Amino acid sequence: MAKAQSVSPAFLGECDVVIIGAGIIGAMIARELSKLKGKFALIEKEAFPGFGVSKASLSQIHLPDFCPIGSLKGKLSANAPQRFKKLARELDLHYREVGEIWLALKQEHIENLWEAKKRGESNGARGYEIIGPEKIRQLEPYVTKKAIAGLYAKEPGVLYTPEWTFALTENAVQNGVSLYLGAAVTGIDKEDDHYYKVTTTRGQIRARYVINAAGLYSDEIAALLGDADIHLELRKGTMLIFDKSVSSLVRHMLFGTFSEKHSQDIAPTAHGNLILGVHYVKPRNKKDTSVSRENIEETFKLGKELVPALREKDMITSFSGILCTNNKASDGDFYIAPSEHAPRAIHVLAGAPGLTAAPGIADMVIRLLVEQGLKAEEKKVFHTRKESFPRFESAPLSKKEKMIASNPKYGHIVCRCEQVTEAEVINAIKRGVDTMDGVKHLTRAGMGRCQGSFCGSSVLKYLANTLGIPATKVTKKGAGSHHIVGYTKQGGESGAGEC
Ligand SMILES: Cc1cc2nc3c(=O)[nH]c(=O)nc-3n(C[C@H](O)[C@H](O)[C@H](O)COP(=O)(O)OP(=O)(O)OC[C@H]3O[C@@H](n4cnc5c(N)ncnc54)[C@H](O)[C@@H]3O)c2cc1C
Repeated sequence: MAKAQSVSPAFLGECDVVIIGAGIIGAMIARELSKLKGKFALIEKEAFPGFGVSKASLSQIHLPDFCPIGSLKGKLSANAPQRFKKLARELDLHYREVGEIWLALKQEHIENLWEAKKRGESNGARGYEIIGPEKIRQLEPYVTKKAIAGLYAKEPGVLYTPEWTFALTENAVQNGVSLYLGAAVTGIDKEDDHYYKVTTTRGQIRARYVINAAGLYSDEIAALLGDADIHLELRKGTMLIFDKSVSSLVRHMLFGTFSEKHSQDIAPTAHGNLILGVHYVKPRNKKDTSVSRENIEETFKLGKELVPALREKDMITSFSGILCTNNKASDGDFYIAPSEHAPRAIHVLAGAPGLTAAPGIADMVIRLLVEQGLKAEEKKVFHTRKESFPRFESAPLSKKEKMIASNPKYGHIVCRCEQVTEAEVINAIKRGVDTMDGVKHLTRAGMGRCQGSFCGSSVLKYLANTLGIPATKVTKKGAGSHHIVGYTKQGGESGAGEC
């Protein structure tokens, strides 16, 4: 009997720094690193950057008024709105400055506003104003009449995190970062005094420095590095999206009360819907993103209390994301530090507001890398992102005409709800998107009222045709999530694009 031969994993390459996890934080670090001379790699287990917690948040850029005074998360979030506005220009992305109002609905809540102002200012933020009911009503005509005071700040804003994660990754790749998608890290071994051997499901990478930015799985990566004492505490938060027809109900990010069980928050989204959150429960495990009827009802109540005109029938979808805190820092703070056992490895354990703090986190990680011996020499040439995705829906009429003249596929609407054209879908696929969810997050096809019922089959067909694969090979979000599992009639799958 022939002996089974052990196949050695493919060698993917050697680099100075490997980043594990292409969420918003890993992508931000990768882009910052790509400004430096050296070889860098970004590894992600999912099929697309940002498919972890980053795709399941409120996508709000806060001031540090939620963060305890003197906390690391407060420090790293201090000037977040200004940082994101600058990045939006550099990456040709959308940052929508909507401002925030923290509302007091009862006399005893007023104290919360002053405390939040003090926390924000102590953490370095400016621009707060305590406002009364008249100004609240002027800024937010539909807010509950119970609102007696508010803490107002103009600069906080909203964006769409998956779009940003993709853009940061794309720009990092344009500047030389090697990206490995669908590559789950399964082992990290010290090869010698200078290098680690990082084993992934796609092969091995040699790296001098390791950044653990694996989000909910950062405890598991830490254990692979020998830091078995890192543990995470998880909370699952439900959020609801409302139809654009009711968007005029809320203009700013509106906050109410906060507890272990909820963060009362309703706000416009970057693309003009309303988002409402967050009701928390304990998830069964890291993959438990299920949403129950009860989760939805509890979340809806939070919104109705702030904006009574809100109706359940205007809700178009619900989803959940998992928040984590770690045992290495107190008070829910971030823990960003070199490994206690593995030289040249850095852990990034960040819960909320990890999106807000991402630019600050990237700066800190690079400082830590330099302290660990990385030479940080800037490249002479850094390429800014060539262009974003031209959007047909939001373009003025004159531009729409030019878009159609330049490419008639802009004249063919694929997603009726969000007015997404065939040209935009094909453009996204040509720029590296190869899943249904990837197309949805980048183009918004399938994000509207009908949630893809109308455009889903067309998007599937464009993916199959453009990638040159059979429709049965198209997935929702990577391996094991196929939309078509077989044909009911013979001859259905006769080749690429036959669907
Ligand atoms: C309900 C909710 C609302 C929130 N709202 C906000 C908000 O409004 N503003 C804000 O600032 N923050 C908010 N946050 C927090 C914010 O979303 C997170 O802090 C942020 O997205 C974390 O980014 P990340 O890159 O660390 O994690 P992730 O996006 O989870 O990225 C980690 C990546 O690592 C990958 N990975 C894991 N294990 C491996 C492995 N073995 N090999 C390779 N890759 C691996 C994962 O697939 C994932 O893509 C919210 C969070 C939740 C849950």
